[in-house]
Amino acid sequence: MKDNELLEKPHRRFNPLTREWVLVSPQRIQRPWQGRVEKPPEPASVAYDPECYLCPGNARAGGARNPDYESTFVFDNDFPALLSEPAAAEFNDSELLVAQGEQGLCRVLCFSPRHDLTLASMAEQEIRNVVDVWVQQYRELGSLPWVKYVQIFENRGAIMGASNPHPHCQIWANASLSNQVEAEQRSQFEYSRQHGSCLLCDYLDLELKQNQRIVCRNKDFVVLVPFWAIWPFEVMLLSVRHVGAMDDLTSSELDSFADILRRLCTRYDNLFQVPFPYTMGFHQQPTDDLAHGEWHFHAHYYPPLLRSATVPKFMVGYEMLGSPQRDLTPEAAADRLRQASEIHYTKRTS
Ligand SMILES: [Zn+2]
Ligand SMILES: [Zn+2]
Ligand SMILES: [Zn+2]
Repeated sequence: MKDNELLEKPHRRFNPLTREWVLVSPQRIQRPWQGRVEKPPEPASVAYDPECYLCPGNARAGGARNPDYESTFVFDNDFPALLSEPAAAEFNDSELLVAQGEQGLCRVLCFSPRHDLTLASMAEQEIRNVVDVWVQQYRELGSLPWVKYVQIFENRGAIMGASNPHPHCQIWANASLSNQVEAEQRSQFEYSRQHGSCLLCDYLDLELKQNQRIVCRNKDFVVLVPFWAIWPFEVMLLSVRHVGAMDDLTSSELDSFADILRRLCTRYDNLFQVPFPYTMGFHQQPTDDLAHGEWHFHAHYYPPLLRSATVPKFMVGYEMLGSPQRDLTPEAAADRLRQASEIHYTKRTS
């Protein structure tokens, strides 16, 4: 069977980072949809919201008051999921009831004092300021002796459970590696031991050669829909140069990073002419003082929208009990994202 014939019929694709499979059913794309339709989200329309706990000068639920910040602002989460006190001991009964204490820190980073902005509507220098804080937080938290991993992530949109439209992300520092990071670490380590090269460098070479799933790029970064994507418009953002973490990027690469983030977020918003909801986050080398030459810095974007601003994909049924499944092929999704404009739909073109 030829490659392209295989990819037109039901098949499964392998994710070499997590070693999991996704089921792809391209023949089902015309199936009628009678599911739930969400109300399209309204973009935040005010620059300052007196009720917002992230806007400058406002009181937060924990009692603290935000400073009148003019660029970015970082603070410790008032209701953190993790505590920085040393963790409790282990619990193990018969290797069946197993628990470990987990030490951690949770911070919030506001991207801008403006309540109504997003990365897509911010100026490149403003995005660069955000990028610089990511690097600085990764360094600062990673240098704490007990912090093994710094996870930076953003939930955007009510549909993703984001409680506030004010542009912000979260930064969690953990004493252990999460499931996803542990899986990706193992795969990248074993790949580099077997092949003598980096899994994601080799993957990026293949993608650039095939040129079927590339969405956009600049000289230092590439955005693509991974061959094994689960979410309809899922993408990966990869550095062209092999670097383990964002603090290895040069100043000129950090400018490129800001450029590609703005372009990707604009394409996303333009796809359905709506502030595009997603969960995104960076994967980079653990901060456990080991070398980790196997790690290649990248970001994952997981947006839930399927065919319009109001129709999300749900992970239910076979997907919860078996494997994730998709109808729209990653190649078709990349094509749609390639056709989306890099001039934001809310901006005048002249
Ligand atoms: Zn706000
Ligand atoms: Zn690499
Ligand atoms: Zn990853």
